[in-house]
Amino acid sequence: MANPKSKFKTIIEPFRIKSVEPIYMTTEEERKKLIKKAHYNTFMLHSHHVLIDLLTDSGTSAMSSKQWAGIMVGDESYAGASSFDNLKNEVHDLTGYPYILPTHQGRAAERILYGYLGGKGKIFISNTHFDTTRANIEFTGAEAIDIPTPLAKKHDSPDHFKGNIDLKALEKLLVKSAKNVGAVILTVTNNSGGGQPVSLENARKVSKLCKKYKVLFIIDCCRIAENSYFIRHFEKGYENKSYRKIAQEMFALADGCAMSAKKDGMVNIGGFLALKNKSLADACTNLLIITEGFITYGGLAGRDMEAIAIGLREVFDDDYLTYRIRSTQYLGEHIRNMGVPVMYPIGAHAVYVDAAKLYPHIPSDQYPGQALVCELYIKGGIRAVEIGSVMFGKYDKNHKLIPAPMELVRLAIPRRVYTQSHIDYVIEVFSEILKDAPKMKGIKITHEPKFLRHFTAHFEPLK
Ligand SMILES: *Cc1c(COP(=O)(O)O)cnc(C)c1O
Repeated sequence: MANPKSKFKTIIEPFRIKSVEPIYMTTEEERKKLIKKAHYNTFMLHSHHVLIDLLTDSGTSAMSSKQWAGIMVGDESYAGASSFDNLKNEVHDLTGYPYILPTHQGRAAERILYGYLGGKGKIFISNTHFDTTRANIEFTGAEAIDIPTPLAKKHDSPDHFKGNIDLKALEKLLVKSAKNVGAVILTVTNNSGGGQPVSLENARKVSKLCKKYKVLFIIDCCRIAENSYFIRHFEKGYENKSYRKIAQEMFALADGCAMSAKKDGMVNIGGFLALKNKSLADACTNLLIITEGFITYGGLAGRDMEAIAIGLREVFDDDYLTYRIRSTQYLGEHIRNMGVPVMYPIGAHAVYVDAAKLYPHIPSDQYPGQALVCELYIKGGIRAVEIGSVMFGKYDKNHKLIPAPMELVRLAIPRRVYTQSHIDYVIEVFSEILKDAPKMKGIKITHEPKFLRHFTAHFEPLK
């Protein structure tokens, strides 16, 4: 996996390490006991017992020395803090939107915006609503409709921009019910759709349709820098544009954005809402003051706003983004070449393994994804998450499982945290997993709560 600027294959992390956090080594024997104690649910493991934590890329980034310096100069004044000015100027410069509302994380921005726009009878349309987006919309009584491009279903085709929205389906919905549409939301990259990117062409056409039918166009911009990488390298006409310029072009097409800064903001907590329209911003500001905080800090401390402002600039750095995307691809392509079935092309923030294909002898009601998650932990101390029938499965009247459409396991890569040798280790663990795949056994659920069962369910391996 060559770096375009270098003839060498090794991906050099474009940073050196100034502060380290120890990883505690465990043996396979110890991990067998630990996972049993956690009822074979990796959410119940203590983080000290995890060697490589690929559970999520959210809020797990390593901050830079500049961001830590920013933490120290954070202005904690209740009103008129300079840290708010720094955040506001940075977000304004990036998005072009004049009204910036800081929130404690992405879902708070969603609750405020969709809480105001939603309500019974309203519909929201997206390439794919992220879980918290859908939950905040449905909580108001509105409906959330996903219309990803039909390409998204071709899990092994080399097509790019499988994160796009289906424009034909969008126009159909707008013709039928434009006056009930709360907003059209483009999630870039499409997190719940395998982390696949959205093209500028697609965004431009969405913008045109939204203008034609007079509906609001919002960007869920959690990973817009990572999305820009794919546009520059795979969409015609953008080869020579900077990643930041490409993102600015996309923002210019929409009426506003909601962001979880825990992703491409490269911080551990934070988010914001940014809007073009004054009356919408005024209505949202009222809700911000009631539920988050005063307008110049929202749900954040001054130091958090300072760190986000710096992170938003660093994330568009050429060398950083090259390293970021290349190292995710490095993992995905290596295990794919070994024979591990993965969603392809590899997205930006995670590699998705198709556990149903890896373990074709394990039926959905014996949860092949959860079996792989446990195997990754036992064999290598690696923590991943099942995105399959444990997370999305439902029961029919006779308590028979209605499986999820796919049995995936997500390996999410935290930003700037792991080096190539950590990733090489993950690849090595997969070669062991492949060897034992034919004799792998499924898993059963022994205890489950009513909602969001994947967080706390208990499991037991089948004999
Ligand atoms: C993480 C995420 C959110 C929600 O943000 P939180 O900071 O976790 O509240 C919304 N949309 C997308 C696409 C996300 O990835």
